[in-house]
Amino acid sequence: MNGLADLVARRYSSCRPACASCPPPPDPDEKRDLSPAKCPNGLEEVEVSEEKQKLIVITGAGGFIGGHLVSNFRARGHKAIRAIDIKPLEDWYQRFEDVGNLTLDLNHRENCETAARGAHEIYNLAANMGGMGFIENNKALCMLSVLINTHMLQAAVKNKVPRYFYASSACVYNAEKQKTFEAPSLREEDAYPAMPEDGYGWEKLFSERMCRHFREDFGLRTRMARFHNVYGPWGTWYGGREKAPAAICRKVIEAKLKGKHEIQIWGSGEQTRSFMYIDDCSKGIELIMESEILEAINLGSSEAVTINQLVDIVEDIAGVKLKRKYDLSAPKGVNGRNSDNTQIQRQLGWEPNTSLRAGLEKTYRWIYDQYLARERGDSGVVREVFTASR
Ligand code: NAD
Repeated sequence: MNGLADLVARRYSSCRPACASCPPPPDPDEKRDLSPAKCPNGLEEVEVSEEKQKLIVITGAGGFIGGHLVSNFRARGHKAIRAIDIKPLEDWYQRFEDVGNLTLDLNHRENCETAARGAHEIYNLAANMGGMGFIENNKALCMLSVLINTHMLQAAVKNKVPRYFYASSACVYNAEKQKTFEAPSLREEDAYPAMPEDGYGWEKLFSERMCRHFREDFGLRTRMARFHNVYGPWGTWYGGREKAPAAICRKVIEAKLKGKHEIQIWGSGEQTRSFMYIDDCSKGIELIMESEILEAINLGSSEAVTINQLVDIVEDIAGVKLKRKYDLSAPKGVNGRNSDNTQIQRQLGWEPNTSLRAGLEKTYRWIYDQYLARERGDSGVVREVFTASR
């Protein structure tokens, strides 16, 4: 071994296999402090299975779904997790102190290379996105997320990362097939001929294709899931990026607490959707990553409801009945959409199965607490920091 490479190896030899809290190994020809360093978490002293020592990289980890994935892998004993988001650490929805947390803008290729170094699996959940209010008014920003997936794929190939997961969306489906309110169940092939949601949906469909071609051309084991409206605790619930379930919970809570028995609904309330609870989403991601499912597959609940029915359930949980006002000029998306789960049932023998009522009860309670905390003048942003002991 030459002198510099030897120093680099010794610098990181105190933590084998690489702990995610240690900085990623530098390029051997890069000049930097090479004095021996200990792993800050002392992870080298812990006995863990080989599988659980392999480095898992989760992008978008400061956000909703990414935060839950980190939490789940950590809870199952994975010792090498690198969590990445563009947001400063104090703005992450969930943050675990015993995980390698990095703030990096993954629009840039060199940051993606830092992110991917040494990874065994990459879960790419980073995207500039939000509910209909955000994606209808920020199409260019949504499309720019293509930079994240492009650079992450390239970095994965360069670093010989064996597995790569991409978070796609039901917004890839052809708009022509979603014109009726009868919640058409969309099968995977209904994405073509392509006419997805403008902006956000086009980026997702293009990125799915790129994942497919990276598998075919470079042997990267890519897996893709089309999420259908995910909801649950530790998600965005106000500020303009929130989705329908969180927005409706917040509005009902506000009406109840302020004694103003009225709610504003975007659109006619007759739009149909299905909503998937976060635990089902996390489980589905992991099953799909482990599977041999090569094409993008639906990951969503097949329990379709109208927005009015969604409001009915939240009102029932809250114990209130509100006067409904419909804003027909507000962003509302397609008229009807449901997840056809034939494929996922066939391939995995499983599909998301948390009832909407059960998932909404947990979500409502969590938003209620967040709402009260914000009213008391707490930070007002959903954040939770978990120390190693929790
Ligand atoms: P989220 O907004 O809570 O999380 C996304 C995270 O990505 C954010 O924390 C954001 O800061 C981060 N990010 C954005 N740009 C970045 C950059 N340049 N570099 C690094 N990080 C960056 O959203 P989410 O609901 O957790 O969604 C996760 C993924 O799932 C996204 O790709 C989203 O498009 C997809 N998806 C979500 C839903 C849903 O209902 N939540 C539905 C379909 C698809």
